[in-house]
Amino acid sequence: MLNIVLFGPPGAGKGTQAEKIIEKYQLIHLSTGDILRAELAAQTPLGQEAKKYMDKGELLPDKVVIDMIGSKIEKSHDSNGFIFDGFPRTTAQAEALDILLHKKNTPISIMLSLEVEKNELVKRLLGRGQVSGRSDDQDESIIENRIKVYNNETTPVKGFYEKQGKYRPIDGMGTIDEIFERLCKVIDEAL
Ligand code: AMP
Repeated sequence: MLNIVLFGPPGAGKGTQAEKIIEKYQLIHLSTGDILRAELAAQTPLGQEAKKYMDKGELLPDKVVIDMIGSKIEKSHDSNGFIFDGFPRTTAQAEALDILLHKKNTPISIMLSLEVEKNELVKRLLGRGQVSGRSDDQDESIIENRIKVYNNETTPVKGFYEKQGKYRPIDGMGTIDEIFERLCKVIDEAL
């Protein structure tokens, strides 16, 4: 099995690249942001709880997202592996993911970390906000907060995977196809 953590700040292109990776390598895409937005659209209690955090660009409590991803992993059968997008976002989430996958006898293979300059992130997010209608992509102060939360709470996750020899930084600047090519090269080395 090939289990990938696709990592990077908001606006790094994780969702776009994950779509291309799942098509090429036949993986199951688990995006916590997408799952939460679906819960919100369906007006479930989880979605309504999540909205309070998403509207401010803050992270949901670890337990909430860990339970959510745990149940998605449990429900998935017979795949080549998973690509985790937007998860784990804290070291506690990374530790919990290792335990969940250990139960399935299928560890994380590699962590691909998309590295993008801050100015470019803000530009991409504001551009996406105009087409997607995502409210957290339309307000520059929420965007600034999401990047700050990423720098403070999420970047330590790199060290977690570095210690396991699984951290692979990838240049996330350039065209979608250029970045995809860089990602595939590293994935192919891990196969
Ligand atoms: P994203 O689409 O990945 O940018 O996520 C949108 C929002 O969902 C984030 O700003 C958080 O409020 C919430 N969220 C998504 N994934 C997580 C996570 N792994 N841990 C905590 N909150 C999350």
